[in-house]
Amino acid sequence: MPTAIEFFKLLPKTNCKDCGQPTCLAFAMQLANQKAALEDCPHVEQSAKDALAESSAPPVRTVTVGSGDWTLPMGGETVLFRHERRFVNPVGYALTVSDLWDEARMQKTVQQASALSFQRVGMVFRLDALRLRCDSADADRFSQAATALSSLWDGPLVLESSSTEPLMQAARAIRFRRPLLQSANPENIKDLGAFSKETGCPLAIRSDDLQTLADLVEKARAAGAEDLVLDPAASEPKDILERNTALRRSALKKKFKAFGYPILNDLSGTASALTAATVATLRYSSLVLLDDLKVEEALPLFTLRQNIYTDPQVPIQVKQALYPVNDPDQHSPIFFTTNFSLTYFTVRADIEKSKMPVWLQVVDTEGLSVLTAYAAGKFTPENVSAAFQESGVLDMSDGPVVVPGLVARMSGKLELAINRKVVVGTNESTAIPRFLKRLAESRSQD
Ligand code: SF4
Repeated sequence: MPTAIEFFKLLPKTNCKDCGQPTCLAFAMQLANQKAALEDCPHVEQSAKDALAESSAPPVRTVTVGSGDWTLPMGGETVLFRHERRFVNPVGYALTVSDLWDEARMQKTVQQASALSFQRVGMVFRLDALRLRCDSADADRFSQAATALSSLWDGPLVLESSSTEPLMQAARAIRFRRPLLQSANPENIKDLGAFSKETGCPLAIRSDDLQTLADLVEKARAAGAEDLVLDPAASEPKDILERNTALRRSALKKKFKAFGYPILNDLSGTASALTAATVATLRYSSLVLLDDLKVEEALPLFTLRQNIYTDPQVPIQVKQALYPVNDPDQHSPIFFTTNFSLTYFTVRADIEKSKMPVWLQVVDTEGLSVLTAYAAGKFTPENVSAAFQESGVLDMSDGPVVVPGLVARMSGKLELAINRKVVVGTNESTAIPRFLKRLAESRSQD
């Protein structure tokens, strides 16, 4: 790894701050400490990138499965703990399809996979891949099933066979989809390593013995394969915890190149698959292969993944804007809140539940929640008033302005700033429907 000074020499030295650092030197120090990536500076020249590319490459290689608009990038990680910087490529989840199934059953699984899609705090989650397993031991059948599945499913694909020939034949048939080949072993490592180089398909390498796994990686690299995925044959929670951690620590702390690749965990046949998937999500897995995944299992798993893979230094935010909820008019009340996504979506959901029309003004507080933003001086009567002016909401409605109960103390100053009477709302978002009902009753009596 180059030193901070070596990095600094190749940076533009304009101190423009676009990388989030105050100076190029500060950015160079972040690079040297692996707390930043070269791509974070949008102004680095290509010649400098080339010079630094290898030495500054992330210690875990980025390997991409799939092609076109829908791919699954895996790895690219630089830290063991998300608070040190951030995790880069979220773990993917894949369901399994057998080549013994007829097309109708295959289609049903594709529909089930497509239905595993949710929206949460403005982000869409979905299932990431399908894995086709060769249960027939018949190369022609496996290859035909791969072709059929690739016409039904647009996303990334994994091909699994314990035999080399069916794996190669099926991979050739859908080579343009860049499937992941699962998995090479001591018997076929040379052939599959060369095949991976020839086709560009990433190759998983499997062994429950980590020394053997390292040897196999070296053999695959000697055969020319570059995009490798480590399969430590861990499917029980304890094994996943131990082996995934050992692999990732070796790659990041000891700079052991043979383990500098993404990890997959195949949970096929595992009794406690959801628990194992949870551990794999928490401990460095880039791909979790499952036999099945129900909607009620997918939602908590996807939510866990979202929590782990969001940047802890950048809260999830929505845009400062005026959001009409339940078709408001010129007399509807005006609520306002911060642009922290979780706050916005919670408040919005509770207003929607009330079925009462409301103008909801979101104020940019750099993604902080109500009390934190208030304490940090980012949710002030002046900010709120400026947001109202920007959206023009006070000209659109003569309804009451409702101050979040947690920041009731800003009421007086806000009244002066916007020259309109305000009322204090609820502390808890869940109380909004009741509050709105009472507000409507009291307004009808006025
Ligand atoms: S974005 Fe690049 S040029 Fe600008 S301060 Fe950061 S390192 Fe320097």
